[in-house]
Amino acid sequence: MSRRKRQFYPIAIIIVGLILVFSAVGISSRNLRKDLEREMQMTLGDVASQNVLVVYKNIELQYRLLVGYSEKLQENPGQEEVILEDMKTFVKTYGFKRMGYIQDDGTAYTTDGNQLDLGDRNFFHKSMEGKVWISAALGDRISGEQEMINVFSVPVYDKAGSSVRGVLFATYRNEVFRDMMDEDFFEGKGYSCIIRTDGTVMAHSQNSPIDSTENFFEHICEEDEVGYSTVGQMKSDMENGRNGYGKCAHQDGRSAMFYYMPVNENTYGSQWYMVTLAPQAVMDARINPVMRNAYVLAFVLVIIAAMGVTAFILLQRKRREELESLAYEDSLTGGYNFAKFREMAKNRAGLSGYVIAMDLVDFKLINSGFGVQKGDEALLALWGLLRKNVNDSELVARVNADRFVLFWQADDKAALEQRIKNLIRAIKEIPEKLNIPPLFPVLGIYYVESLEDADKCYGYALQAKHLVKGRRDKYYAFYDEIDYQRLMENKKLEDSFDEALENGEFEVWYQPKYSAQSGEIIGAEALVRWRRSDGKMLPPGIFIPLFEKNGCISVLDEYVFRRVCERQKERLDTGKKTYPVSVNISRVSLYFDRIVERYESILKETGLDVKYVQLEITESATVDNVDIGGLIERFHEVGFQMLLDDFGSGYWALSSLNTMRFDTLKLDKSLIDYIGDTRGEKLLKYITRLGQSLGFRITAEGVETAAQVEFLKHLKCDDIQGYFYSKPLPMQEYEALVSG
Ligand code: C2E
Ligand code: CA
Ligand code: CA
Repeated sequence: MSRRKRQFYPIAIIIVGLILVFSAVGISSRNLRKDLEREMQMTLGDVASQNVLVVYKNIELQYRLLVGYSEKLQENPGQEEVILEDMKTFVKTYGFKRMGYIQDDGTAYTTDGNQLDLGDRNFFHKSMEGKVWISAALGDRISGEQEMINVFSVPVYDKAGSSVRGVLFATYRNEVFRDMMDEDFFEGKGYSCIIRTDGTVMAHSQNSPIDSTENFFEHICEEDEVGYSTVGQMKSDMENGRNGYGKCAHQDGRSAMFYYMPVNENTYGSQWYMVTLAPQAVMDARINPVMRNAYVLAFVLVIIAAMGVTAFILLQRKRREELESLAYEDSLTGGYNFAKFREMAKNRAGLSGYVIAMDLVDFKLINSGFGVQKGDEALLALWGLLRKNVNDSELVARVNADRFVLFWQADDKAALEQRIKNLIRAIKEIPEKLNIPPLFPVLGIYYVESLEDADKCYGYALQAKHLVKGRRDKYYAFYDEIDYQRLMENKKLEDSFDEALENGEFEVWYQPKYSAQSGEIIGAEALVRWRRSDGKMLPPGIFIPLFEKNGCISVLDEYVFRRVCERQKERLDTGKKTYPVSVNISRVSLYFDRIVERYESILKETGLDVKYVQLEITESATVDNVDIGGLIERFHEVGFQMLLDDFGSGYWALSSLNTMRFDTLKLDKSLIDYIGDTRGEKLLKYITRLGQSLGFRITAEGVETAAQVEFLKHLKCDDIQGYFYSKPLPMQEYEALVSG
């Protein structure tokens, strides 16, 4: 997955989480709103029906009273004054302001002693038409139009009951209705109106924002918030005497919920409706705290989730950084590793300079001889030096073990060489501080016009380094010094191995070994030679390293071993004098499977007694191969004598003398060359003593002078091998020598 995709994930989770949480809150708020609305609707309905009951009961009573008097007048025409007098007592009881009688010419006589013309009043006309009527709110003419009143009127028929001859009426303060309407709902915020089906407001509760001067349908908006025709619905319900529920926006912008139900059964001339309303604010006041809590909770949840996700992202980032540092940081030095070098090289693409591959010759000997900790100290000291020796545009990294890579810039080759020499000098000072053997850096240098492909450049630098790796006289080489001619020839040699083996081009030569004391032959070392088809003879120093690289060496070693075994057996069988011959095994061959078994089977095949053939393994092999001790044991079990070759050529891991049970130490020529130098001689002496005291046989190699022979004899060294006695000889010559 790409990094971008990975980063998108948590963000997507947050977004989805937010959507989920808020839609959950949204849904529950809608549900809550619906529940509340339903509850409020029920409350509104309850209040409305209660109001209706009260109003209806009152009106019924008044109706009955008026109708009672009307019937009396019908029975007793001319009794108007008596009746008026009688009515005075009921005015109070019924809470009327006054009652009265209107003649057909509109002249009205009232219980409070007024006589006035009400011929223009609508209620008068309605009742004259025979209707029982309750007027809408009117200004009271008697008290100067200040007070709002309603007038309840009934017709008074003539005795025959065929025509209306007057009107009886009762006036009450509009407040009376008002008082009939419950105001105590929704914390006093709810209000009620009594309206006619044409929207005329007959009465309203005290706190109603709609008053009697307005038309209910004009006061509220035609449509509700969602465009539904509230007014249309109400009107059609009212026409059909249905009750209903609605939401409306007042013209002043406030909105409300309301419930409406008919008050009477259309007996007083006009259908009345009781409307109970609750302002939206009531609903909001109930819902808002709950919703606020829900949103706070949701917000907290989202914050927690966001914190969780953030923590997750940070953790991820930290892990990525850790991984990156693992990928880019060298564990020992804490500096760059090669992967980082590669990245940095990309950043410096286009720069010209020198890519330098560096390592230390035989550094592993420090690890094995002085401990890994000392080795690490040396590497850290070296790292410190290298770090000091790069500027901002340059680079340094540890590749692995003792291998480093540098990118240096210099004006020219000479300037670079000067820098390198300074560096080598500084490196040479490290061992003294750490009390370890000398360090020998080798460097391969590759010049790049334009840095970029670190792998390629480092590869070239490595090739250059190989030019100096095996040498002790030179520390560095440039890539352009590589002799391609030589490389091609080496390649040819490698390629012709199989053919050469088949053609018998590999010859076994013998270098005799002599007893130091008696000077007599005691054995020989088998050394391979390659006689090429053109007759040219190649020394092993040329081809063995090549075959060690491509693995052919194990085949060659076995071949030499088999040839030696066969020849020894032949000599024994023909009764010729036969001395033990040692055969070399390359350390590379040791890595191959079942080596002990294979050598043992060759021995069996040829039928040679194991005491006539010995095996030489070089000292450096003891460093590379961890289980060399075990291998030696197994060779021993077969019966082989084991010789430790080139002892003293590198740094000595003296402790390994104890753990690896060799039989013979072959002192390297470099030790023998110490003879003549007092300190060197001392060293040689102690080594020989030490070896002998540990039970090793001591063979001196590369002995070239009589003085050396004398010295070694004096040392009580066991055997001598070297040009002083004999160079390696072709088989026939060696056998001639042996046969004397
Ligand atoms: P080595 O095993 O240390 O063999 C001794 C080398 O020292 C031989 O070189 C020998 O000619 C040389 N030498 C002996 N006495 C003197 C002396 O007095 N002065 C000088 N300057 N040199 C002396 P050679 O034959 O060129 O072999 C070189 C190396 O090649 C051997 O070193 C050994 O490591 C390797 N080698 C030779 N034959 C075989 C083989 O069959 N298998 C393997 N794996 N390696 C072999
Ligand atoms: Ca040898
Ligand atoms: Ca040797």
